[in-house]
Amino acid sequence: MPDEEEQALAGAPCGACRTLWRRCVSGCVFAPYFTADDFAAVHGVFDASNVSKMLERIELPEQRWVAAVTLVEEAKARQRDPTFGRVSYIRILQEVNDKARELVDAAREEIATEFGALAAAEPLPILGARARA
Ligand SMILES: [Zn+2]
Repeated sequence: MPDEEEQALAGAPCGACRTLWRRCVSGCVFAPYFTADDFAAVHGVFDASNVSKMLERIELPEQRWVAAVTLVEEAKARQRDPTFGRVSYIRILQEVNDKARELVDAAREEIATEFGALAAAEPLPILGARARA
């Protein structure tokens, strides 16, 4: 978040340092990545020192950015659903996928009944395309 970085350069603490009630130093590991609200969520779930260690282990700035965004999403998901966090999304998607698979299977049975088993068979893989699971 560029505004946060500019604030740090101007002497004002970044959102993370404001949340931690500390002085923001030049090169603050949190400044480019977190607003105060996002950091509050991340700090509440992962703790600032752990977040700092995680970000410092990542050498490439663009990967740090992805890690920071991921940490914010993880933290917010954990706040919404303390039991499952982001896993709840995976469970929902698995249920949607299972329902879709059931619909496909039912449609395939209907096609097989109407037009024969060959018409309902899995499509042949196209050369170069990924095989279906
Ligand atoms: Zn800071």
